[in-house]
Amino acid sequence: MRIVVKVGTSTLAHATGHLNIKRVEELCKVLSDIKNAGHEVVLVSSGAIGMGLGKLLIKSKPDDIPTKQAAAAVGQCELMYTYDKLFSEYNHTVAQILLTGADVKDPVRHGNFQNTVYRLLELGTIPVINENDSIATEEIVIGDNDTLGAIVATSINADLLIILSDINGLYTGDPHKDENATLIKVVEEINDDILRLGGGSGSSLGTGGMKTKLTAAEITTGGGVDMIIANGNNPAAIYDMVDGNDFVGTKFCKRK
Ligand code: GLU
Repeated sequence: MRIVVKVGTSTLAHATGHLNIKRVEELCKVLSDIKNAGHEVVLVSSGAIGMGLGKLLIKSKPDDIPTKQAAAAVGQCELMYTYDKLFSEYNHTVAQILLTGADVKDPVRHGNFQNTVYRLLELGTIPVINENDSIATEEIVIGDNDTLGAIVATSINADLLIILSDINGLYTGDPHKDENATLIKVVEEINDDILRLGGGSGSSLGTGGMKTKLTAAEITTGGGVDMIIANGNNPAAIYDMVDGNDFVGTKFCKRK
């Protein structure tokens, strides 16, 4: 299987913005093992801005674009350093690709992106993809990494996109407010009732939320790729998702 895993800032970093070492170590170990089992793995990783802010000791999310872009430039290095170090422990090679909206809209650049990823997969690497946050501004921005994950998964004909977040999946209501809200295990079709369940962004460091995840689910399933939303606090659950076993999360089935 070709699997794209999108991991959000809330999974990778503590609320301080500093790396959640235990979590990231576990994630890299599981993904290495899944690759060893013969699957292709592509990682779409957030965390550049959040980790850059942590490293620069900036406490809250800035409003101005240059500070965010500077933070991303710092944090992206830390991210790749961490992935390189951890995946190297299991003999895997990482490769970085940074994209903007212009790269996915322009057919030539999009084709270049696809060719590079296919070759990187043939060469046995684990491509790590993020938005080029230091360059992308309003008019060329993809905007959030859930959408980026969906674009990547459909561009490279993946079999599955797994979005790891700080929530177990899609609920029938807001689980933070409604104690009767239950987890929806499978969504066969994304209709208006499902879309109505998307709220705003949850964590203070990431940009996503259920809304962007549902947009991602529409792009992904429409492009013929299955998608799962699950909690990033238990990376080992990825084994069950890949092996087709029961897991805690929501699966969106590709459109037939
Ligand atoms: N590209 C952003 C970052 O690396 C994250 C965007 C998102 O989480 O949706 O900080």
